[in-house]
Amino acid sequence: MKNDKTVRKFVSSGGVTAYKLPVEAFENHVTNCYLVMDDPITLLDTASGRDSANQELVDCFCRIREEFGEKATLNDVGRLIITHGHVDHFGGVNFVAEESGCEIGIHELDLSVVQNFKERLLVTSTNLHFFLDRSGLSEDRVTKLLNMNKWSKDSFKPRTVDFTFEEGCVQGGQLIAHHAPGHCPGQVCLQLDDILFTADHVLSHITPNQAPEAITRYTGLGHYMESLRKIRKVEGIRIGLGGHEEDMEDVAWRIDDTLEFHEGRLKKTLALLNEPSTVAEVSLGLFGPREKYHVLLAMLETGAHMEYLYERGQLVVTNYEDVDKEFNPVLKYQAV
Ligand SMILES: [Zn+2]
Ligand SMILES: [Zn+2]
Repeated sequence: MKNDKTVRKFVSSGGVTAYKLPVEAFENHVTNCYLVMDDPITLLDTASGRDSANQELVDCFCRIREEFGEKATLNDVGRLIITHGHVDHFGGVNFVAEESGCEIGIHELDLSVVQNFKERLLVTSTNLHFFLDRSGLSEDRVTKLLNMNKWSKDSFKPRTVDFTFEEGCVQGGQLIAHHAPGHCPGQVCLQLDDILFTADHVLSHITPNQAPEAITRYTGLGHYMESLRKIRKVEGIRIGLGGHEEDMEDVAWRIDDTLEFHEGRLKKTLALLNEPSTVAEVSLGLFGPREKYHVLLAMLETGAHMEYLYERGQLVVTNYEDVDKEFNPVLKYQAV
């Protein structure tokens, strides 16, 4: 990930000012929040809610006062919009809401992540358990990964959301939501005239992590690529501002590049499946040996690509007889 910690000012074609507020959400992981000087003054995302991140967010407001003469403070924020239900984007929601008294909005498909954080995490973990059990990893490895995935279950205090939105105008103000499920069920890109806040859907250098839809509905590579093509069609965009990394002057090009990247990874995945193989074996072929949390990310990414191919009839399960005999056996897939 390419971290960029410059506070920047943008003015939309309709004359609305927006500031990029980069905050180190986790170690060496910068999340870009944005302040939109709309009516009401709107903050997009909050970073992680760690004490250091909350302080950095406040510091960003000092910097827009010093560097750009903007008068707004965190207390002036009237509305917070969360771009998607990942903790590096919404974790600071309690801090921001308590400092400013703002209203909180999120796409309806990610509402429960903020309101019922622990419940959603634990219920999703059972789907993850099911996926990992049949992936070919050892039992010990599966247990470790499941525990790693649940590290944050008690770290976030759930918060009641004030409003949800779907496609189109977000209540109050001028932002237009384009629903872009894939990386997250309720992922949205937000349009302000000729500025597109792409959140984690499109980023300047990295491609956002994918996971199988079998674990969480409305994620998965199929939805993600479909959403890329959808956002590619949004007209009149001069600049893309991502949830991480740097600004994008050519969002359409970056989308094409991201699509090409996944097409390439799908081809590599298929090439690794000439012989019957498990998700764990293919993951090793794609990413090599990984450590700790990166094992889980590699497994999810591989699982998302294999699910995409399987659903489109390009893979078959060769040991399907086992499925008839035992509950959730390790599956072996092969290219058709
Ligand atoms: Zn994300
Ligand atoms: Zn993110």
